[in-house]
Amino acid sequence: MLDFQPNSDALSGKTILVTGAGDGIGKEAALQFARYGANVILLGRTIAKLEATYDLCEKQSNAELAIVPLDLEGATVKHYQDMASTIENQFGKLDGLLHNASLLGQLQPFGQIPEAEFRQVMQVNLNGQFFMTQALLPVLKKAPNASVVFTSSSVGVKGRAYWGTYAISKFATEGMMQCLADEYSNSTMRFNCINPGGTRTGMRAKAFPAENPESLKTPTDIMPAYLYLMADASIGVTGETLNCQPK
Ligand code: NDP
Repeated sequence: MLDFQPNSDALSGKTILVTGAGDGIGKEAALQFARYGANVILLGRTIAKLEATYDLCEKQSNAELAIVPLDLEGATVKHYQDMASTIENQFGKLDGLLHNASLLGQLQPFGQIPEAEFRQVMQVNLNGQFFMTQALLPVLKKAPNASVVFTSSSVGVKGRAYWGTYAISKFATEGMMQCLADEYSNSTMRFNCINPGGTRTGMRAKAFPAENPESLKTPTDIMPAYLYLMADASIGVTGETLNCQPK
C-alpha cells in the first residue's frame, strides 16, 4: 500500500471530506483525491487557504468541490449535524472522511502544560473528530463502502518526553479508530489510521526547527497510503495503522 498505484478513476463517484485541507498533508490529499476522481469537501479554519486548495483542485481535476469553513476549536455538535445534513442534501452520501487537521501545541515538560493549551489541543485533535465522526455516521452509512481515516503519529503508539498533549491526543485517536473498527466489524464501513512519519510541512518545522526540511519526504511522497485507504482496493481492511515511513 505504500507504493499503491491507483487507476486514474480509482475514486470516481466517491465524495470525500478532508479536514485541515488548507495546508500541509491535507492540502495534498485533497488534491490527489480530486485528481483520482472524487468530489472533495475541503474543511478548515482559514478560508484563504481553503480557497487556494479549491483553485488548485479546480485547475487539476473535474471534481465537484465544496468548502466548509470551520474552526474545530469552537465547533459544536450542532455545527457537525448541520454539516452532515448539507453533505447529505448535496452529495447523498459520504464515501470517505480524512481526519487530518491537528494542532501540535507547545512541546514542554508535563508539569508545565497550561490548562488552556491542554484543552485547546484536545478540543481540536480529539473532541472535534469524535463529534464530527458521530454526526457523519448516518451519511457514511449511505455509502456502499465508506472509509474513515484518522491521522496518528509515532507518538500515538509510544509516548515521548515533552510531547505530552499532542501524544496523548494521538493515543486517543488510535483508540477511537480501534473502537470504531471493532464496533463496525460486521459492516462495510472501515476505520483505519495513517501515521505519516516525518513529512515536510509547517507542523514538522515547528516541532523540529533545526532539521533540514530537504531531508524529509514531502506530502506528495506519502500519498499512496492515503489513496489506498480511500480506494476500493482497501475494502475489508479495518482497525489498522499504516505507517507511511516504516524504518
Ligand atoms: P499542518 O500544520 O501543515 O496542517 C494542519 C492543518 O490542520 C492546517 O490546514 C490547519 O489549518 C488545520 N487546522 C489546525 N487547527 C485547526 C482547527 N482548529 N480547525 C480546523 N483546521 C485546523 O500539519 P501537517 O500537514 O504536518 O499534519 C497533518 C496531520 O498529520 C496532523 O494530524 C498531524 O498531527 C499529522 N502528522 C504530521 C507529521 C509531519 O511530520 N508533518 C508526522 C506525524 C503526524 P491552518 O492552515 O488554517 O492553520
